Amino acid sequence: MSFFHSDGGGGGGLLGGEDGVSLTRNSPAAYEIVEEDDLLVQQLNTNPTSRSFKFASGSFTSKLKTCAMRTCAFLVYWLRRMKPSTERELAWSIVTASTFILMIFIAVHAHHRHNPSKGANGNVIFNKTEVCESSSCVHLASTFLSYMNATADPCEDFYEYACGSFGVVNPIPDDKTSWSSFSVLGEKNNMVLRRILEKGTTTEKKKMQQNSLEEDVEKVSAEEKTTLFYKSCMDLNSIEDASIPPTLKKLMSSVSSLGNANDDASFPLDFDKDDDRSKLASTLSELQSNYGLAPFFSIYVGPDSKKSTVNVLSIDQDGLSLPSRDYYVDKDPNTDDMLIALKNHIETMFTLYDTDTDTTTNNSADIAESVVQFESSLATIMLSQTELRDPQKTYNVLDVKTDLSEKYKFGWSEFLTNSVCPPSEEAEEGRHLDSIDGTVDSTSTSLRQTLEKCKRTVPKQVIATSPTYLTQLEELLQKTPVSTIRSVLQWRILSSYSSYLGSKYTSANFDFQKKAYGLQTPKLRWKTCISETDGALGFALGQLFVDETFSSTSRDNAKSMVADIINSFEQNLKSIHWMDDKTKGKAKGKAEAILQKIGYPDNLSTANQLNAHYADLSIDTSTSYMDNIFASTKFGVQSNLDQLDKAVDKTEWDMTPPTVNAYYNPPNNEIVFPAGILQSPFYDGSSLRASNYGGIGVVIGHELTHGFDDEGSQYDKDGNLVPWWPEDVVTKFKEKTKCIADEYSAFQIENGDHVNGNLTLGENIADNGGLRESFHAYRTWVNRTVKDGGNGGKEEPNLPGLPDLTPNQLFFLSFATVWCGDTRAEEEHRRIVTDPHSPGRFRVIGTLSNSEDFAREFNCPKGGKMNPEKKCRVW
Ligand SMILES: [Zn+2]
Repeated sequence: MSFFHSDGGGGGGLLGGEDGVSLTRNSPAAYEIVEEDDLLVQQLNTNPTSRSFKFASGSFTSKLKTCAMRTCAFLVYWLRRMKPSTERELAWSIVTASTFILMIFIAVHAHHRHNPSKGANGNVIFNKTEVCESSSCVHLASTFLSYMNATADPCEDFYEYACGSFGVVNPIPDDKTSWSSFSVLGEKNNMVLRRILEKGTTTEKKKMQQNSLEEDVEKVSAEEKTTLFYKSCMDLNSIEDASIPPTLKKLMSSVSSLGNANDDASFPLDFDKDDDRSKLASTLSELQSNYGLAPFFSIYVGPDSKKSTVNVLSIDQDGLSLPSRDYYVDKDPNTDDMLIALKNHIETMFTLYDTDTDTTTNNSADIAESVVQFESSLATIMLSQTELRDPQKTYNVLDVKTDLSEKYKFGWSEFLTNSVCPPSEEAEEGRHLDSIDGTVDSTSTSLRQTLEKCKRTVPKQVIATSPTYLTQLEELLQKTPVSTIRSVLQWRILSSYSSYLGSKYTSANFDFQKKAYGLQTPKLRWKTCISETDGALGFALGQLFVDETFSSTSRDNAKSMVADIINSFEQNLKSIHWMDDKTKGKAKGKAEAILQKIGYPDNLSTANQLNAHYADLSIDTSTSYMDNIFASTKFGVQSNLDQLDKAVDKTEWDMTPPTVNAYYNPPNNEIVFPAGILQSPFYDGSSLRASNYGGIGVVIGHELTHGFDDEGSQYDKDGNLVPWWPEDVVTKFKEKTKCIADEYSAFQIENGDHVNGNLTLGENIADNGGLRESFHAYRTWVNRTVKDGGNGGKEEPNLPGLPDLTPNQLFFLSFATVWCGDTRAEEEHRRIVTDPHSPGRFRVIGTLSNSEDFAREFNCPKGGKMNPEKKCRVW
């Protein structure tokens, strides 16, 4: 299924390239509001669990001439003159000082005003004041003011107006490739997690000392496992002192014996020889099911697109070191900077490993050369990022017996059987099989025993993203020397697990990231360890986070906003002319059927539930950190395979609670908002509704609209990939979406790269729909509240320091603030090529220039940059 593709570009989310907390999942989620983390770092330095797993000008200008706004404009000018990295602390102190002055001004002023009171739902009710003076409003105003360039004309470039100073007060940290509003919140969440984990580590240490004799690994709670895992990650002395772990050495050497049937490793594998065929299949299945490694293709279990209640095994293209096929195709490995950097890096890593293991037979330079050549060949047979977004094209049912075993020489049957039913130690000897199609070798009693013991049913059918890829892969493998295949597999192991070794390896990884992606310094260790802990035990860690940061009131308010926005979507359907009434009725039905998940999973919220969930994961500080990584990886892969015989678990989450992101998942027809994103500046229960609807409201609308974008609209209300629109409606829909694709394709980043309008189409449709839905939901809320006598029968108040912006205007400012950010040039290029999300600047400009509501509220002249004559609208 295309939204579960592991192409290195990730699934797709609300925003691009954040360094928040990464996910624990065995398959990438679809339709996130942003892309996950620094993916380039994940490619070469990653946690394996996550591996295969965007007034009239004149009148506005005159409004700037207020005292507060001049102060702000002066501050912004001053900040912009400073060099970001060297004077960052000074900049911060100025912003902090300005916030402080603003607060004193308000505090003095407040003496003469009524304080806002809180309503039953926790929201502030404003009676007589026209400026909100709550600390939340002051904080929000301060954020807006510090990010804005108030000298910019909002009708010319709203992104510059809202975000023109973001980079000054928030320069990209040296250990990041980008920085944005999402990152700022992610950093805040990280601080909370650090406090939780370090407190827990101390408590744990005392407890372990007291109870060392009675220690029983089986009885370690999920919470204790979380702190133990973090501790083992932070223990750099032990990691540094340890030699290469035996498990890793064994794995590397098992690969080097591949292809014993050939005397000469310069020949390719001979798939007509059982030995060659069998050994490759069993090696690949071991790498996949025990270590989460996918050198040529990955497998995962998830809902069947055409029968969404049933789980199915899918096979996807995989195996590149760089972010996507575009980094290899039509590039010369001898002259392309990125490929040269990769080659040098591979050589360095093999040299380090050979030295540490006293291996003298390998020539690291030759190995590196052959791996890059192989990956280049592999890239040419892969589907493009845009092709991967087509759910029909990537849904291909293959019968294991007739479409795989009988058609291919590669031992598919053996690979799948071994992956689904990993051989037990004692049964491994003499394992030789063709079991899925019922032709089990009757002499192989060990196999029979293994299969009898196997808890899972080996599937008779699988879904392939691209059968053509499988065919061409077999051709490629049959002409590749055995020595190269060994090197490719070993490189996959090294590139994935070397970051858990000592500083020689992590430094080499960083050197590559510096050359290739512009990182300036390595990530701080505690941040790496939080991210890894979240990857291994994210729901246990998440509940600790939820306990500290997420109230039931926040959850209730988010639920009521979701209801308002679904209602707004339905109201907007009435003004859509390209869809007939009958289909509109079905669309309404789909919107109403959407499953909502907010904050955290209810069935993983108590200690007992979490202990049971992580019961099979052993974490121990007495073994090496690498062993804990191996254990958590295997646990993740095996938990996913366990779903094979079960009905689709609709309660499962693809993101952990601290994550600053959100997603729509088509087969479940669900929208999911982790506690991590339900915070300021997206959401604050004590702040203006205008800001909440502009922030989390648009996020909710975005995810909802994914159910009706070019991809999501192909799934019905039950999550099945079956057509539910008449042909003529589909045709008209495509005309509407072409308008969006053409509009965004015209956008260009600084290096001249154009946004790929087709790759980003789904996200752009979602952004445009989400903004419209949330603005209308906000207006409905205001009208309802005024009618009911709330707010003293008036509109919401303004914000301090921004007295001339109406609440409606604040809605749009809040929306744009969410997308403020800066990205290093190398990373910006990577995202243009791989990320289904448009850059933040265009998520603001594209969406607002299509919005009549925006143009009206800011009184932008018709035909101007932010109010063009031609506007695109789908939903
Ligand atoms: Zn999205």
